Amino acid sequence: MFLKRIELSGFKSFADRTELEFVQGITAVVGPNGSGKSNISDGIRWVLGEQSARSLRGGKMEDIIFAGSDARKAVNYGEVSLTLDNTDQSLALEFNEVTVTRRVHRSGDSEYYINKQACRLKDITELFMDTGIGKEAYSIIGQGRIEEILSTKSEDRRGIFEEASGIVKYKSRKRETEKKLQETEQNLLRIHDLVVELE
Ligand code: ATP
Repeated sequence: MFLKRIELSGFKSFADRTELEFVQGITAVVGPNGSGKSNISDGIRWVLGEQSARSLRGGKMEDIIFAGSDARKAVNYGEVSLTLDNTDQSLALEFNEVTVTRRVHRSGDSEYYINKQACRLKDITELFMDTGIGKEAYSIIGQGRIEEILSTKSEDRRGIFEEASGIVKYKSRKRETEKKLQETEQNLLRIHDLVVELE
């Protein structure tokens, strides 16, 4: 699996629809200070579900929408799409290309799509679980992240190894199942009380 394409539209400094094609191997993005290089990696983290405006170097989520310039009016929504090559079926979808999209309106409403089908953020998070791709995963190492990884608590550091070894998905499913079991136990208790009342 590799990142084939990113499309940004109305996202930060990318007012017009901008498409970047990647090939296998190393790609370097170069440009003067403030030209939008970091905005590209912000876009990748955002489409993968980043919910913290501060992590995206903004004050509020609306700040990710192109705010206008001397020459152009502001736009009403921001959108980013990532297209990944899935010929090795690393992602559990029977498509050779998978495109995930996130769109946010000034009202704050967010929409997510997988291959143009509307979905929940949870579906995107689950799709990428244990692949190393994700807003917190190790596929995006930002400035200062290595230091952060080395200096964080050992439990937090373990999370990175758990993602790499592919067990996060099972841990998350275990948590959900335990929650359902608890709810079912509560329901059983309630039914038991009702039966006792009726007897
Ligand atoms: P450096 O090399 O200094 O790290 P960079 O190429 O990584 O710079 P970015 O930090 O990606 O640059 O881009 C910063 C630019 O993006 C600034 O000019 C800023 O005004 C612009 N920008 C950020 N958010 C918005 C927005 N919502 N609307 C318009 N422009 C924006």
